[in-house]
Amino acid sequence: TPGRMEVITGPMFSGKSEELIRRLRRARIARLRVQCFKPDLDVRYHRTAIASHSAQTLDASTVANVDALRDTLYPSLDEVDVIGIDESQFFDASLVPLALDLVHRGKRVVLAGLDTTFAGEPFPPVPDLMAVADEVTKLSAVCMVCGAPAIHTQRLGESQSLVLVGAAGMYEARCRHCFRPYQEEL
Ligand code: ADP
Ligand code: ZN
Repeated sequence: TPGRMEVITGPMFSGKSEELIRRLRRARIARLRVQCFKPDLDVRYHRTAIASHSAQTLDASTVANVDALRDTLYPSLDEVDVIGIDESQFFDASLVPLALDLVHRGKRVVLAGLDTTFAGEPFPPVPDLMAVADEVTKLSAVCMVCGAPAIHTQRLGESQSLVLVGAAGMYEARCRHCFRPYQEEL
């Protein structure tokens, strides 16, 4: 079977995890064998599941990095048809060749992740995944200021860390007009 790479992107609260869960559930209904991963940075709701803000979940293996993902997945790769990866922005650039290798081996790879940081800049490696994907779905959230479609993630509060691990209330979806890059908020 030909492989396929799908990327689901957009700001926080845009429904990336929901859409990932929806696609992977449908794959399971089609009797495809699905394995899901997420970085261990993201422990918002569940250590061992992908979780959406609307509390849907899907079992996932938590891995520290791309090497750990490869070590977990490849020994039993013959028994996997579809690979789901959430919070792709927390993996490094080696996620791109890994995803491509899986596609070349005939796998369907569905990756979800933020396309921009709270500074409004591209959030690697997601833009590079988008460039080589078969299909890119860019979702919008609802701007928490004005209600327009939101493409940005607004960081609230003080930390300058680039890591976007969301406790509720720390981040907001914002449209282009209402978004203030984080530094200007200080
Ligand atoms: P993501 O993975 O993109 O962060 P999730 O799939 O986890 O998004 O959550 C999407 C859900 O978040 C929506 O279906 C909705 O219930 C909820 N939600 C909370 N705030 C917003 C918002 N500002 N815009 C859209 N959805 C929101
Ligand atoms: Zn707005």
